[in-house]
Amino acid sequence: MDICIGNKRKYYRFRADRFYGGIATADCMGCNMDCAFCWSYRTRIHPERFGGFFAPEEVAERLVQIAHEHGFRAVRISGNEPTLYKEHLLVVIQTVERLDPTLLFILETNGIKLGEDEQFVDSLSQCHNLHVRVSFKTGTPENFELITNRPREWFELQLKAVEHLYNHKASFHIAIVADYAHEYLLHQLQRISPAILKGVEYENLKIYSYIRRRMKERGLLR
Ligand code: SF4
Repeated sequence: MDICIGNKRKYYRFRADRFYGGIATADCMGCNMDCAFCWSYRTRIHPERFGGFFAPEEVAERLVQIAHEHGFRAVRISGNEPTLYKEHLLVVIQTVERLDPTLLFILETNGIKLGEDEQFVDSLSQCHNLHVRVSFKTGTPENFELITNRPREWFELQLKAVEHLYNHKASFHIAIVADYAHEYLLHQLQRISPAILKGVEYENLKIYSYIRRRMKERGLLR
């Protein structure tokens, strides 16, 4: 099932969340990876069962409304991967800025699309309300294939995303799943800039029962 029609993308939920000290969150559907420990894999695998289509302006309006109702200073798109539809995402970010320039937009991404498309990163870097969090699911190309079910070469796209963000002077930081962190990744990040290492966030996995089953199937748990 397509998760984008024209400029509309499918979302399954809009909510207030506690992360980042309180953040308005739109949960989108669709991802270009298939991580063993993905907590939202059901909406990714069965998009026909959930949600509805929303224009970017409507997503922005809902986010700003939730932020104002709860006194939050930040908004984000979460759930699956926000960068799949470039134009949709850019309009959401720009509309949030127009409606309330004081709100921070946090873009949580696996970085693949940003590694593929430097022009996309250039457009994002011109959004003054934006901070990007690039999430690495593992610290080596060897493990990448097993964990994400995607070619190991894509690991390099994540590093390329970091390089593009750094070169375009975007506001960003790196998150690494702590269980699979590795010196190799830290070394690669340091090669782009030692300053990147200072801001690394280590993410702890929450292994719910349905995630445990998927991790066992991939041989990641006994
Ligand atoms: S990148 Fe995120 S949304 Fe996509 S499969 Fe992995 S954990 Fe799930």
